[in-house]
Amino acid sequence: MLQLRPNCEHCNTDLPPANPKAMICSFECTFCESCVMNILKDVCPNCGGGFCYRPVRPKQNLRNDNYLGKHPATSTPTLKPVDVDDHALFATEISKIKPEDR
Ligand SMILES: [Zn+2]
Ligand SMILES: [Zn+2]
Repeated sequence: MLQLRPNCEHCNTDLPPANPKAMICSFECTFCESCVMNILKDVCPNCGGGFCYRPVRPKQNLRNDNYLGKHPATSTPTLKPVDVDDHALFATEISKIKPEDR
């Protein structure tokens, strides 16, 4: 199940569960849209994969207790700011390859 991490791993901006601008890679590395687009260039600094918008978990119990109240977001922040210059070197070539072809 997705952890729904509370912050951007790079800039530490709050990313509460309902924030539609939270983005995740397949390993759930979690960043804000601005960092993904402007700094990361859609290349995860931890795995090299691309990002998708994180789905919003319903806050209402719409069906079978599958909602935020029963399965809350983690409150443990992950903060691991990237070295911007180092990431640029890492991401320049990778960003030319579509995520589905990496
Ligand atoms: Zn950010
Ligand atoms: Zn990743």
